[in-house]
Amino acid sequence: LIAYLNGQFAPLDELSVPVLDRGFLFGDGVYEMIPVYSRCVFRLDEHLQRLARSLAQVEITNPYTLAQWRALVHDLVARQPFEDQSVYLQVTRGVAYPRNHAFPKPIVLPTVFAFCDPLEMPPPQHYTQGVAAVTTRDLRWQRCDIKAISLLANVLAKQEAVNAQAAETILLRDGKMIEGAASNIFIVQNGVLYAPQTSELMLAGITYDLVIELAQLHEMPLVLGDVSEAMLREADEVWLTSSSKEILPIVTLDGRSVGNGQVGPIYQQMLQIYQTYKATVMRR
Ligand code: PLP
Repeated sequence: LIAYLNGQFAPLDELSVPVLDRGFLFGDGVYEMIPVYSRCVFRLDEHLQRLARSLAQVEITNPYTLAQWRALVHDLVARQPFEDQSVYLQVTRGVAYPRNHAFPKPIVLPTVFAFCDPLEMPPPQHYTQGVAAVTTRDLRWQRCDIKAISLLANVLAKQEAVNAQAAETILLRDGKMIEGAASNIFIVQNGVLYAPQTSELMLAGITYDLVIELAQLHEMPLVLGDVSEAMLREADEVWLTSSSKEILPIVTLDGRSVGNGQVGPIYQQMLQIYQTYKATVMRR
């Protein structure tokens, strides 16, 4: 596996960063995960724009132009021996001494790290039979719109799913459904698709945006707004979306069936639309 660190390509297991990197000491950095199908990078510009926004929000100077990022990603993808990949990009505020919460002064170069893994999609039966999810209280901070590498609360939430043999943990805050530990959540009630509107409390997923775009294009009834915990528990269908899982149906929530416990018709319709869209962009 060939990876990238601060301008150099090298085998992943030969790379290391100094212990004084602020990513290591403070979780002071941001990241992206981008899926690659048959060496075609999916929604690259959307991911790079979100990366630029995350960097701006945490006041790390974007080390590269959009064109440089594109070239880096395409170069890295071309160097891998596998077709389907997930590209991980990370930028931290760099290496600084002494350890101090405040930004280093004078500012230091950010650390840029990127690598590719073989893309591990969920097994086919997860799409045809659905997965289980659990819920928990959202313990994260109030800027979850920033794709920050400090993911401790997400890590703890995800482990609750693993402990319950479920695929995802849905985060609840103030009686509202926010998102998954590493995904966005949609629900369907009486044929209408609902999702939380973007806010500082959730990450605007690239897949979330695409599902909304496709729902609008196909004139599916869609409401963006607060989704209460009660709506979630009474939903006919619940889905999760993310770059690594696309769209997955959730058929069990906290041990109880969602709707009739089967994968729903609106889910099947959206999955079909999504796959058709994906095939179209990949043929280009
Ligand atoms: N929300 C959180 C907290 C995430 O970590 C992720 C992605 O991993 C998502 C939502 C989904 O975002 P995307 O569709 O861009 O992968």
